[in-house]
Amino acid sequence: MEKPRIILLGAPGSGKGTRAVALCEVLGIPQIATGDLFRKNLKEMTEIGKIAKGYIDRGELVPDEVTAAMLKDRLAQPDAKNGFVLDGFPRSVKQAEILDKLLAESGEKITSVIYIKVDDEEIVSRLTGRMICSKCQAPYHVRDHKPAKDGVCDKCGGELIVRDDDKPETIRKRLKVFHDVTFPLVEFYSARGLLAEIKSETSARGINADMKDLSKKLGFIA
Ligand code: ADP
Ligand code: ZN
Repeated sequence: MEKPRIILLGAPGSGKGTRAVALCEVLGIPQIATGDLFRKNLKEMTEIGKIAKGYIDRGELVPDEVTAAMLKDRLAQPDAKNGFVLDGFPRSVKQAEILDKLLAESGEKITSVIYIKVDDEEIVSRLTGRMICSKCQAPYHVRDHKPAKDGVCDKCGGELIVRDDDKPETIRKRLKVFHDVTFPLVEFYSARGLLAEIKSETSARGINADMKDLSKKLGFIA
């Protein structure tokens, strides 16, 4: 079986992060989320963090050179050799081309692109009420995905916080960037026959079961 090298596409608030986590659990491969990598760099005040901060606070994309260098480092780590779920990269056709080149250097290519379809109104209501763990970045939502104990991460006991860029004006900007710059990737990957579209609603059986079904359908597990 081919190693699963999967891209998850979806607007901010589409539930991309939660699906990425579930998919990685099902397939036993790492989640590579450029947003999480940036937040880690911000927290540790690295050089990358310093450059990225202004862009992230404004809801804009961090320049490609910075993002691609950070991604290249992450992809070079041994765990990524078994496959990966990319969450938050690529975000533009330009970045998709950069990714192709990066993977080609080690004879790899993307095996599937999963697009999570969701309406704009639904997105705004989801982004309001979103929280992440300040320690391990696990995503939560006051309505859709509550932690067992208020304000505390189920996985690591860390404190749950609202991200700075989940403020209304930044949310609007990020949605615009998604429509203008990221959405064309749906057509880009569809033309290559790589696109699978899924709904943003979770079935009664739960996200893990949904991601297991999807993995079977895509041929990653028997
Ligand atoms: P969301 O998917 O909810 O918008 P992310 O956590 O994926 O949030 O990203 C947060 C921010 O990090 C983005 O608004 C952007 O500023 C920056 N970022 C993440 N991934 C990329 C990328 N591939 N290219 C440029 N900037 C990025
Ligand atoms: Zn946690």
